[in-house]
Amino acid sequence: ESQLNPNYSFENFLEGDSNRLARSAGLAVASKPGGTSFNPLLIFGGVGLGKTHLAHAIGVDIKDKYPEKTVLYISAEKFTQQYIDSVKKNNRNDFIHFYQIIDVLIIDDVQFLSGKTGTQDVFFHIFNHLHQNGKQVILTSDKAPVDMQDIEQRLLSRFKWGLSAELQTPDFETRVSILKNKLYRDGVEMPDDIVEYVAKNIKTNVRELEGAIISLIAQSSFNKKEITIDLARVIVEKFVKNTKREVSIDYIQKVVSDYFQMDIETLQSKTRKRHIVQARQLAMFFAKKFTKASLASIGSQIGKRDHATVLHACKTVDNLTSTDKQFKKYVEDITKKLSV
Ligand code: ADP
Ligand code: MG
Repeated sequence: ESQLNPNYSFENFLEGDSNRLARSAGLAVASKPGGTSFNPLLIFGGVGLGKTHLAHAIGVDIKDKYPEKTVLYISAEKFTQQYIDSVKKNNRNDFIHFYQIIDVLIIDDVQFLSGKTGTQDVFFHIFNHLHQNGKQVILTSDKAPVDMQDIEQRLLSRFKWGLSAELQTPDFETRVSILKNKLYRDGVEMPDDIVEYVAKNIKTNVRELEGAIISLIAQSSFNKKEITIDLARVIVEKFVKNTKREVSIDYIQKVVSDYFQMDIETLQSKTRKRHIVQARQLAMFFAKKFTKASLASIGSQIGKRDHATVLHACKTVDNLTSTDKQFKKYVEDITKKLSV
């Protein structure tokens, strides 16, 4: 039993700037499992951005091309449970052996292994065995390896051996094509302006995007009403309210740049002018503080910087806050604005 879901195919995984690298790395791995430098392939990104879907798609495609290969998909949570059971039942070695003879091992949500040293230890040995034998390992996580906490260093260093590819929030066009593809598959017709309205207003999570469309269809058929833009408004509003979430990085950039009376383009620009650099560092600091985004993702959203720049920004802000009164005031003011 591979545990793969055939609906989670590459065909159904719509391509956009937000996922192009991860998607094409996935395709490369699927055509030569164990035979590329993307081993392990680690797919990371926020909730509902398609990690599980893409991980399945790779497995499904491999099974298609290489029916003789054993492919196993398992969540890190289930893997942990199995391991604990094997220890209880005194067959830890059988557990290890079972995993060591798999050709393609897909482990979803490896952040779940945080702090679980026993499971990390056993996974380390399984990983090494598979890797040495040219078997493919595919992992997903909500964070990049550099941002993972309570994972042993030796395991983290293995995670970095291959390729880490991020799934970012899809842009508007991609969101529209995801919705249209879903409607098409479900055989539902919906006017373009309504699809676009939903795609415009639900931005941060593909699962919610799909959820809104599903509930729109359900509402209209239940009440025997046509799908109108007004109905779409009501439903989108509910979704946005129910998921009243953490402040977004976009919002943080807006608040910080307004505070310093500059525009967002200036804040993101490459300039080294001190006050602009400081504004940018503050935006990074608040993004780290108020969102769950990874350092890499914060960097890419705030002027396409790397994770090291964001880390440096956070340290600089910490230092300046304790040494510079004026700067401390900035931090307090902006914190207030972001907290309302
Ligand atoms: P994650 O594991 O990152 O939380 P999932 O893989 O469960 O996210 O994706 C959530 C939903 O969004 C799934 O129904 C998935 O099919 C859909 N989805 C995400 N990205 C895409 C995409 N690029 N194209 C089509 N559907 C997508
Ligand atoms: Mg998932």
